Amino acid sequence: MTIIEAKNISYKYPDGTKALNNVDFVVNKGNIVALLGPNGAGKSTLFLNFNGILEPTEGKVFVDGKEILYNKKSLLEVRQKVGIVFQNPDDQLFAPTVEEDVAFGPLNLGLSQEETKNRVVDALKRVGMEGFEKKPPHHLSGGQKKRIAIAGILAMKPEIMILDEPTSGLDPKGASKILKLLKELNNEGMTIIISTHDVDAVPIYADFIFVIKNGKIIKKGSSHEVFDD
Ligand code: ADP
Ligand code: ADP
Repeated sequence: MTIIEAKNISYKYPDGTKALNNVDFVVNKGNIVALLGPNGAGKSTLFLNFNGILEPTEGKVFVDGKEILYNKKSLLEVRQKVGIVFQNPDDQLFAPTVEEDVAFGPLNLGLSQEETKNRVVDALKRVGMEGFEKKPPHHLSGGQKKRIAIAGILAMKPEIMILDEPTSGLDPKGASKILKLLKELNNEGMTIIISTHDVDAVPIYADFIFVIKNGKIIKKGSSHEVFDD
């Protein structure tokens, strides 16, 4: 079953930069999909089109079979389903303490203080950051910030989690922990989409891989199909 579909989308930034060029992209429910491409290829731009932060200049995006309509109601619905973890956690972490940061999403969805509290505790446990509740996020290491950013998205319980370069800047041990966590979440039914510019970091777990270059998808398939030639 298809859970995200981008149909022939193009995106041009206001300054005229053409970042995406006729991209078709389909994600099946329950899969781990990797988007591979060099810096500047259009990976972040594509992801921002998947949850309505950016509206494609041409083409359409569907989530769970429903077209994103760029009105308040449609965007709220989409953002409940599709969570994005940005490449740079500093773009995402801005509350004075870790627990307030992780609570931001659930409170924004209108959940009660009590439910939010439970979700914060669960999410921090999930990423191995329990005990950090009262710490200011900007005092943490890069890897810890990434995990807090992931916890903030997990606390909203999205059906689909998109992670932009989740392992960049981490040591191999930190990177493999993140990948292991993603595999666990996937085993529990979450659809996962990740980007990377590092061919060696393409998770062996990926069910399907897209390769993007200069705003165009230049290859797609299983890891065999993409790498064995
Ligand atoms: P990637 O995530 O693969 O590194 P991006 O989606 O960030 O690629 O960038 C795709 C292209 O769009 C690049 O040429 C980049 O310089 C350009 N770009 C990204 N953000 C902006 C912006 N806010 N304004 C103008 N151009 C941008
Ligand atoms: P080790 O790998 O050193 O034997 P652990 O795997 O238990 O020990 O934890 C090492 C570090 O990794 C700890 O700082 C812990 O907070 C962190 N950690 C634990 N679980 C995760 C996870 N799912 N994702 C990221 N980091 C984690």
